Amino acid sequence: MKLSLIVPCYNEAENVEEFQKAVMQAFKDSGYDYEIVFVDDGSIDATYHNLKKIFDAQKCPVKVVSFSRNFGKESAIYAGLQQASGDYISLIDADLQQRPEIVRDMVKILDEQPEYDVVAAYQDRRGEGKALSFFKKSFYALINHLSNVKLKADASDFRTFRRSVAESILHLGEYHRFSKGIFSWVGYNTCFIPYVACERAAGVTKWSFMKLFNYAIEGIIGFSTKPLRIATVMGTFTGVAAVIYLLVVLIQKLAIGIDVPGYATVVILILFLGAVQLFCIGIIGEYVGRTFEQSKNRPIYIAKEILDYTEQS
Ligand code: UDP
Ligand code: MG
Repeated sequence: MKLSLIVPCYNEAENVEEFQKAVMQAFKDSGYDYEIVFVDDGSIDATYHNLKKIFDAQKCPVKVVSFSRNFGKESAIYAGLQQASGDYISLIDADLQQRPEIVRDMVKILDEQPEYDVVAAYQDRRGEGKALSFFKKSFYALINHLSNVKLKADASDFRTFRRSVAESILHLGEYHRFSKGIFSWVGYNTCFIPYVACERAAGVTKWSFMKLFNYAIEGIIGFSTKPLRIATVMGTFTGVAAVIYLLVVLIQKLAIGIDVPGYATVVILILFLGAVQLFCIGIIGEYVGRTFEQSKNRPIYIAKEILDYTEQS
């Protein structure tokens, strides 16, 4: 098998058939074989029903992994990687925002340029609001500053890579998966190509602002321990400030003899220090929580059913 397309699907009932058509159209005269690995990420609409239809028809080789509940796109990608048998593996969304024709170009690059192991697409022009765009920019600036992995702004999960890369990713069995970080962490030579995301074929995006915010936190906590140092830094500053203030108060009281009115100062100090402490405990909590989750060693996903064309009689 030359190529496996991994397609995470969450409530994409209206898109999956269109998606398969688009893929078959794009690869019609490619001259190589490919399979589509659909991962139904616990959809609550008719996605599974439609995937079953696609599987039964087998217009092209199709595998379907069906999760017992929604585990998230990152888990779906992991499951897809486990099922993929291609020499090249592509991650692509089900909503046709990412055109399968681009995958052909990616395959071509991998074929012709052996020095590259990954071809990743980044969004050239984004039709999103200013606020979101600002938020994303700040996130990339922050994470690249804080963590050891370097992320390219606007690089998406839309990428094609060699089998060796997939094997490396499968070795990272962490429960909290942040795929942009994971890709950067495993390394390999990456060729970035620009692409323009199309409108969603049907349905709505699964991302809300809150989800994006949590995703950003995931990326920072998952790939850096620098935030832990914030407690140390803040503690040091507060300590120095306290000593200076102590001297000021002592001089005022003993040398100049003014009575220092204390109420406002005390209230502000208590509130300020309380806030700093809670903030630092919160950061530590994020790490402790993740250590706890990971120590339970739970599976990354639970597959209710796996439909595999190679096991059909
Ligand atoms: N997706 C998924 N699980 C989720 C959320 C999304 O498998 O919990 C899939 C979704 O079906 C789609 C892809 O991930 O194929 C990208 O999602 P979406 O289109 O909502 O994101 P956007 O393109 O807006 O970034
Ligand atoms: Mg999309």
